[in-house]
Amino acid sequence: MLLDVTNLLRSPGETLPFHFEWTASQCWDGLGEEITWEAPVTLQGECVWMDGFFVVRGEMGMAYTTRCGRCLSPLSMRRCVDFREEFAPREDEDFPDRYLYRGHQLDLTDMAEDLISLHMPMRHLCKEDCKGLCPVCGANRNTTACGCAPQEDPASQKNPFAVLRALQTDEDEEV
Ligand SMILES: [Zn+2]
Ligand SMILES: [Zn+2]
Repeated sequence: MLLDVTNLLRSPGETLPFHFEWTASQCWDGLGEEITWEAPVTLQGECVWMDGFFVVRGEMGMAYTTRCGRCLSPLSMRRCVDFREEFAPREDEDFPDRYLYRGHQLDLTDMAEDLISLHMPMRHLCKEDCKGLCPVCGANRNTTACGCAPQEDPASQKNPFAVLRALQTDEDEEV
């Protein structure tokens, strides 16, 4: 995704609009979550020269399928995120977040990959209160009341030391 800024360098006051359709890698594994793109990622916006660096701003559109992180049901996602990033011709330690460009072209690919990583949730959920899968029989607890007994939680089991203490107290009372 190369944005040619030759004209902006010639007439710095202008605004350069852009529109890209970018085929992202088929499975994104940025945070261990597998997604499949349903359409190219779109980037549209404008680029302006700010006396020393370029500002690239606009919207990124994403359409992909993934699975709910709790119940594994398939999800179809349509998302749009805003961005504003800066591109400079050389590194400047005061602005470590700027992307670099060479010649008259800004390569927006790294920026797009970073934006995707930044905006992917740690896990997708079909709904906030998804009940997930039954750990015993695997049924989707959003749709099935499987009736399995809740799994024993070790933390809620009787503390053997508490039982012992109770016995000792009984003995003391008998004495
Ligand atoms: Zn779910
Ligand atoms: Zn069950």
